[in-house]
Amino acid sequence: MLLAISCVFNYGTYAQLEKVEPPFWWAGMEKSEIQVMFYGTNIADFSVSVQEEILVTGVVKTENPNYIFVSIETQNVAAGTIHFQFKKKGKLQFTREYELKERAENSADRKGYTSSDVIYLLMPDRFANGDPNNDSVKGLEDKLDRSKSGGRHGGDITGIIDHLDYLEELGVTAIWSTPLLEDNDPAYSYHTYAQSDVYKIDPRYGSNVDYKNLASELHKRDMKLIMDYVTNHWGAQHWMIKDLPSYNWINQFPGYEQSNYRMETQFDPHKSDSDFKYCVDGWFVKTMPDLNQKNPLVLNYLIQNAIWWIEYADLDGLRVDTYSYNDKEGIATWTKAIMDEYSDFNIVGEVWLHNQAQIAYWQKDSKIGAIQNYNTYLPSVMDFTLHNAVEHMFAEGGGWGSGIMKAYDNFVNDFLYPNPDNLLVFLENHDTRRFNDIYDKNLSAYKLGLTLIATTRGIPQLYYGSEIGMRGDKSKGDGAIRQEFPGGWEADAQNAFSASGRTVQQKAFFDFTKKVLNWRKSSKAVHTGELTQYIPENNVYVYFRSLGADKVMVVLNNNEADQTLDLARFAADLKTTNGTDIITSQNITLNKTLTVAAKTPLIIQLN
Ligand code: CA
Repeated sequence: MLLAISCVFNYGTYAQLEKVEPPFWWAGMEKSEIQVMFYGTNIADFSVSVQEEILVTGVVKTENPNYIFVSIETQNVAAGTIHFQFKKKGKLQFTREYELKERAENSADRKGYTSSDVIYLLMPDRFANGDPNNDSVKGLEDKLDRSKSGGRHGGDITGIIDHLDYLEELGVTAIWSTPLLEDNDPAYSYHTYAQSDVYKIDPRYGSNVDYKNLASELHKRDMKLIMDYVTNHWGAQHWMIKDLPSYNWINQFPGYEQSNYRMETQFDPHKSDSDFKYCVDGWFVKTMPDLNQKNPLVLNYLIQNAIWWIEYADLDGLRVDTYSYNDKEGIATWTKAIMDEYSDFNIVGEVWLHNQAQIAYWQKDSKIGAIQNYNTYLPSVMDFTLHNAVEHMFAEGGGWGSGIMKAYDNFVNDFLYPNPDNLLVFLENHDTRRFNDIYDKNLSAYKLGLTLIATTRGIPQLYYGSEIGMRGDKSKGDGAIRQEFPGGWEADAQNAFSASGRTVQQKAFFDFTKKVLNWRKSSKAVHTGELTQYIPENNVYVYFRSLGADKVMVVLNNNEADQTLDLARFAADLKTTNGTDIITSQNITLNKTLTVAAKTPLIIQLN
């Protein structure tokens, strides 16, 4: 006992040791061999061992003596404290305790988000400011400046938690917040994709504990939390970028060259090597050095970091930024490691491509990927072709390939996807022009668009503020599509979070959204039922979702005039003459014909 106390006294703290990552791990993980990184001036001068009988499977030193990576095998090791011993010439210099925590119950069985969910994408800096005391923080350069569209506006995790009742009422079941980890860029840090410490929530959003609380508050409401994860790059201000473990930790030319953003080169059989290199190894922007996932130390660091957050914060899923810019083999290994740890989990990758073959390439078990012997293990991808279509089709007449035909055509190509139910479907996101800006805040267009993404196959994703008609034109800069939610700031003139605070127009947008999404929660036919679509005629699109006897009929009249449909055409799917309009709750008689008002959607639960 005395000896133990004396050890703590002498060696418990060691000024040279600045960082240990991951800061702790858990007993009983699938990823039981972990690589602990120690950082401190000339830390590599020490030899490292473990006091307990735990297998040290490897010690890696890089050309920078400030790093040492020690791998240990924790399989069958009980939760408790491990002691790393740092020695010189065989003599113990100091000891560092390392905790192997007890896992939460059923942690490995966590369910990811699915097509039964509706995801609400928000930017935390712009959603709600729940804690004005953290708007500017000492040590972080970018200070509060709401007058700048690219400045920090003060929103935070408390602001999100404060409005969970609002989101629950709206009917969304999951939140995807854009990144919350520390980003110490001197400007534009509000988007937080240039991270400077990936084990720490940015103090301007709150703390790691606050983030964990956000997940727990969501779970109390049967809602889910999706983390926006960045594997492709870190910020130039990242502490490791400023003291690189090795030259090849990042992709260098030397130093910076910009990506050509030509993701086609990931599969083009005719690509030139230099085009491919510039796509994958080029930096997304100058302030975001491109991580080298071919370096096993980097890849392992990213795998451990992602699993650490899922386990620590009790996450329900990930969204991966710039998925298709990563080293292909590296990102597949990363994805598989996470899915091996949590087999029912979900991860959606941002694969911003413009044809279905190229998007489908990135989904798990893709036959298209298999042509090139490639499998990402990525469960979910984003339906960017549908997004491209919705930007135009509600303003177009019904020609051979125009108007609502574009929706039909999009789903025809579902034969390319291994799992169409696991596609994210969306009208817009934080990188695109807002839907309500394209359609000039036209409620009819919004109703058609929302109905489409809420009732077709896949996982609907909304973007904050669209449910009250917010608009934003990307050609005026990113700030225009990332404006503050009205009511999120103490002195706001208007509060659209409360029913009484909404304008008549905001109320119309909100009420429709709330109605559709809350109905959707219990519609199993829409979650996983078969989608049967009929070729649009006169710019009217009819499709059915069927799960056994549970059937939903959807009609999107994209025509400028009322349309009367001859129902005989749909006889194979329409075996009843009774249905319920889920918006009005009125009965609908489906006898021979059905008239649908101009520019109007109908969702009919068939009886
Ligand atoms: Ca704040």
